[in-house]
Amino acid sequence: MSAAPSVAIVVGARPQFIKAAPLRRALLAAGADPWLLHTGQHFDEQLSGVFFEELRLPAPRCHLNVSGGSHAQMVGRMLQAMEGPLAAARPAWVVVIGDTNSTLAGALCASSLGLPLAHVEAGLRSHRREMPEERNRLLADHLSARLFCPTAGAAALLAREGVTAGVEVVGDLMYDLALQTRLDPAHLARHGARAGGYLLLTAHRAELCARPAELAARLAWAAGRARGEGVELLWPVHPRALAALREADLLEPDAAAPLGARPRAALAPLRLLPPVGYGEMASLTRGAREVLTDSGGLQREAFFYEVPCTTLRDESEWPETVSCGWNRLWGDRDRPLPPPSARQSAAALGAFGRGDAAARVARALLGAQPAP
Ligand code: UDP
Repeated sequence: MSAAPSVAIVVGARPQFIKAAPLRRALLAAGADPWLLHTGQHFDEQLSGVFFEELRLPAPRCHLNVSGGSHAQMVGRMLQAMEGPLAAARPAWVVVIGDTNSTLAGALCASSLGLPLAHVEAGLRSHRREMPEERNRLLADHLSARLFCPTAGAAALLAREGVTAGVEVVGDLMYDLALQTRLDPAHLARHGARAGGYLLLTAHRAELCARPAELAARLAWAAGRARGEGVELLWPVHPRALAALREADLLEPDAAAPLGARPRAALAPLRLLPPVGYGEMASLTRGAREVLTDSGGLQREAFFYEVPCTTLRDESEWPETVSCGWNRLWGDRDRPLPPPSARQSAAALGAFGRGDAAARVARALLGAQPAP
């Protein structure tokens, strides 16, 4: 009997741990030997450890312990550190996911070693090259032999760039997972929240955190919106954003608060929470009256859970969520959200697949017949 084909999955950041879970399970079920190469980009318990436990990911077979520094420093150190392990393992496939520095390092390393490269979440574009995420995903796409698109729109964007070989629309791994979540009232109770009684905020993109005035403007608007609705504004805050809040002098010390600080009074009713696990975040999102975010993942989850969303940016890599009315962009923030009757649900739209994206990626990589 021949050995199971080895498939290296490069992970490093929170959304990649989340997406690697269904992907690894599907690869195992399809007869592969999937293993995780963790770059170390996110290394702490709240952004990494908790997801391994909750999503039952095995310990990475290879951990590079590379984090911090500029884009060039991080990608350069990752590249150097992963070359030896990947050259020794010579997996049948190297899979990179999304748009982080770990995605780019994995893509560059696999291609320089001549290893077959697959990109999951291919074809997304903000059309803004100044964003590191845009450069990372663009380069990963153009280096990959197999490109797995979450939506038909993503495949169309690739075709406009002349990339059609190896492209397949499989659906969104986030949708696979979202279908398995539910609103657990205990998760809300833990934060003293009740369904429909709060707005949910996240904001931590590098470009926003680097611009204190823009961050402050978005927070002031979000707080005003919550005040207008007469509800709380909850924010499970990413360490990068917490540092940006400190830097912008938007916090005051509070020994009783979970993070040792609270937002300044002008931002009331904003309440900061430590980052939470995947299931707890799904409950918080499902229970929110509205979502306000700069996260690509959360924009889609709001859409999947039929919660209206305002994206705190002027563009979205997920135009399907905007055109059907669930998601409005920062520039449109004063436009009323369309009434529920005018919105189209994810299930009705069908744009994000059928919840079998991971299985389709696994079948494609192992050369099995596609499902009918
Ligand atoms: N998420 C989480 N806990 C949190 C905040 C977010 O589990 O405290 C989840 C969120 O539900 C989504 C993913 O993390 O599934 C999104 O990750 P992130 O916003 O870091 O990245 P992006 O989607 O912008 O690439």
